[in-house]
Amino acid sequence: MGHLVSWYLRSRGDRDTHHGVLGPDGTVAAACGVRFPPLRLPYDRLSLPGYPQDRDQICPDCDSRRREGAR
Ligand SMILES: [Zn+2]
Repeated sequence: MGHLVSWYLRSRGDRDTHHGVLGPDGTVAAACGVRFPPLRLPYDRLSLPGYPQDRDQICPDCDSRRREGAR
């Protein structure tokens, strides 16, 4: 298994898109410590295809941890 670290939406609200790993139980363990079932996106996706386009929706804690680097 490679790692499936990606961006997931907990809600469509501001600062509620988190960077984490989708577990076998269907919840995302985010870098900031929250755990949540991800919102289903168009085309039946769960994770975003890349960096979130709407920066206001990014969880600042996840974003800074992600930039700190590479795990
Ligand atoms: Zn977060």
